[in-house]
Amino acid sequence: SAGQASGFGVSGFFSNKNELRSTVSAVKSFTPRQGGVFKIVALAQKAEYIWMDGQEGQKGIRFNEMRSKTKVLQRPIRAGSLDFPQWSFDGSSTGQAEGKFSDCILNPVFTCPDPIRGENHVLVLCEVLNPDSTPHETNTRRKIQDILSPDVLAEETLFGFEQEYTMFNKACKVYGWPEGGFPHPQGPFYCGVGLEAVYGRPLVEAHMDACIKAGLKISGINAEVMPGQWEFQIGPAGPLEVGDHVMLARWLLHRLGEDFGITCTFEPKPMEGDWNGAGAHTNYSTKTMREEGGIKAIHAAIEKLSKKHAEHISQYGLGNERRLTGKHETANINTFKSGVADRGASIRIPLGVSLEGKGYLEDRRPAANVDPYVVSRMLIQTTLKN
Ligand code: ADP
Ligand code: MN
Ligand code: MN
Ligand code: MN
Ligand code: MN
Repeated sequence: SAGQASGFGVSGFFSNKNELRSTVSAVKSFTPRQGGVFKIVALAQKAEYIWMDGQEGQKGIRFNEMRSKTKVLQRPIRAGSLDFPQWSFDGSSTGQAEGKFSDCILNPVFTCPDPIRGENHVLVLCEVLNPDSTPHETNTRRKIQDILSPDVLAEETLFGFEQEYTMFNKACKVYGWPEGGFPHPQGPFYCGVGLEAVYGRPLVEAHMDACIKAGLKISGINAEVMPGQWEFQIGPAGPLEVGDHVMLARWLLHRLGEDFGITCTFEPKPMEGDWNGAGAHTNYSTKTMREEGGIKAIHAAIEKLSKKHAEHISQYGLGNERRLTGKHETANINTFKSGVADRGASIRIPLGVSLEGKGYLEDRRPAANVDPYVVSRMLIQTTLKN
């Protein structure tokens, strides 16, 4: 049936090379051709199944926590739908199961077009289930679903995630840093421009384009304070959506890094010394905070957060103590501090929010390698459930 929208392959007899070439380009540009010597068949679809592994010890330390494998579907399924079949993987190779009972289940939770493979190919983000279909202990997404009670849903919580990351070259040196030495001290690099100020922009641009093509809610990028360090922002989005989009944006970054010869890490403090660490500031609001006089709800939320500081810190990323030193735009890990426009605070109220008397707060504590589903769950739990 040539009337469908999503991609076709052509098989048949080709009398000369030109005919073959034009047929191939017709397929690539999705042009369905009917009749003649061509028999039209649906183009097989590549579905990249993506999930978070259980390699706790390695998280953020050069190795990232994403895994994926490809399923070829002879009958394409629409990107965006959740009709993709469940699949399984060897959990004993990802830190998620014992060798003797190793099958874990991949359950699709979010799908979108694959911006790298193009055509009708898709990315399939999955949650991990045990063989008996109960959620796996690494399945932090499901734990959010558990607390989305009607009163929480009524608050229409929104999250904006600022994902910082650091680029490394194949020799495990920060990308673009001079061989055997250091760049100029920090100062000129944040939001910089020019060959001497920023390193790795082609990957950043390719990644931003890929996120946009995939339909992710990416809201911007910038070069960071340490050269070779960058940030992208996802949001504002709901508590599940923000995590889904962050996970896929992380996967796309690692995947594109392969093509650019760059390893991106979410290590909280990749370089010791006078160099900024990498965080994941999380901007958060409820309906009440966004409405007239919402600043009162923002202060009430900060008061509640101050009482659960240690609990949040314990979940905010491995190795975060090397980053939250009280220097380099952080508050010390043992201190809870809030303030307007204060980049040395645990929680910052942006200046515009303070002036308008409504809006959102920024939790500056999460490390770059934090699990985004954990941050949104804890913010909801602390501010709306106790
Ligand atoms: P910073 O000045 O801290 O670098 P950014 O511009 O990088 O801030 O990020 C701010 C983030 O706040 C954006 O990603 C945006 O999606 C998010 N944001 C804006 N308004 C809200 C809101 N009402 N609730 C939650 N997040 C919000
Ligand atoms: Mn990581
Ligand atoms: Mn930012
Ligand atoms: Mn930043
Ligand atoms: Mn910020």
